[in-house]
Amino acid sequence: MTIGVLGGGQLGRMLAMAGQTLDQRFVFLDPSPDATARHVGNLSVGAYDDEEHLSELARKSDVVTYEFENVPVTSARFLNELVHVYPPPRALEVSQDRVVEKEFFARLGIPTPAFAAVSTRAELEAAVARLGLPAVLKTRRFGYDGKGQCVLHTNDDASHAWDAIGSVALILEAFSPFEREMSILSVRGTTGETRFWPLVENEHRGGILRRSLPQSNAWTPKLQALAEAHAARVLEELDYVGVLAIELFVKNGEILVNEMAPRVHNSGHWTIEGSETSQFENHVRALLGLPLGSTRMIDHVGMLNVIGRMPLHADVLAVDGAHLHVYGKEAARGRKIGHVTVRAKTREDLAQKLETLVPIVDESLAARD
Ligand code: AMP
Repeated sequence: MTIGVLGGGQLGRMLAMAGQTLDQRFVFLDPSPDATARHVGNLSVGAYDDEEHLSELARKSDVVTYEFENVPVTSARFLNELVHVYPPPRALEVSQDRVVEKEFFARLGIPTPAFAAVSTRAELEAAVARLGLPAVLKTRRFGYDGKGQCVLHTNDDASHAWDAIGSVALILEAFSPFEREMSILSVRGTTGETRFWPLVENEHRGGILRRSLPQSNAWTPKLQALAEAHAARVLEELDYVGVLAIELFVKNGEILVNEMAPRVHNSGHWTIEGSETSQFENHVRALLGLPLGSTRMIDHVGMLNVIGRMPLHADVLAVDGAHLHVYGKEAARGRKIGHVTVRAKTREDLAQKLETLVPIVDESLAARD
């Protein structure tokens, strides 16, 4: 079979690597001729809304998926007339607009930070008065890695933020004083079979994911059950097929849902070596209508993103249990160009290995070179 993928970044690349063990072929559509997935499949270079390219992708593919959530919904719907598109375009539509997404969660009884849609300065003032400060002002669409958002502490901040990003539709969210950020990764097959990986604790810096720890010290069965219940409701409601990631704020054993990504996710990269079945393999299995694999975690696992500069491979690989993934992308400040997963038999050993790896991987050290 041939799997078509909208987007040719590292997520597409790792999907193809997982699919190749099942003898699947991959074709990618990406606007960039340098898209890194070109090394593991056939790359068509074209815009996501170019109907000729979309038709060609549909012709070549038995099923189509996407690895980038800013693909136009109209393109996903156009393709869906010609070939199965998973996850369903409706999932893409919901996730692309933060207001639509939060209203969707609210309808399913899934708690989120309080929010208000904002499209004028007066609406911003009213929303600040209603939700209080601090609050977070974000663009409704096309935000990622913390871009297009400001934390507001004062009315002056609100006024400056409006000047900076008020030209597009916005959402104001109550600031959540969370203790931890976590994510729940889940997968649903064409038969409705559903699996969940253990909750992952995520650490961001500068809006970019730095580190993921599945089943960390903060993990409890109660949190896991709560997160699974939320994810299950979303999967059912959307008649979902594929991997779904949901990002969560956690405080005092309570969960507020931040957002969802209808695709494989950076906080699931640890599953390649750290889980019985990786998110990539299970996504491919779901697309093909195959039985899903166990999501059991193997040993203790941590994942560090490689951002901005590639460390010496030998330095990373000298750490026992470490695996380096190099995405084949040009290095640039703030750009994800790889990740390291490390496994250990005990929690203490994992902590020690991470302590060794962090300075090797960290870009702030690299910047001093
Ligand atoms: P997002 O683009 O929504 O994932 O936001 C990027 C990061 O900003 C999140 O990972 C949080 O660290 C922070 N953040 C977003 N929304 C809120 C909120 N309502 N309260 C507190 N922090 C937030």
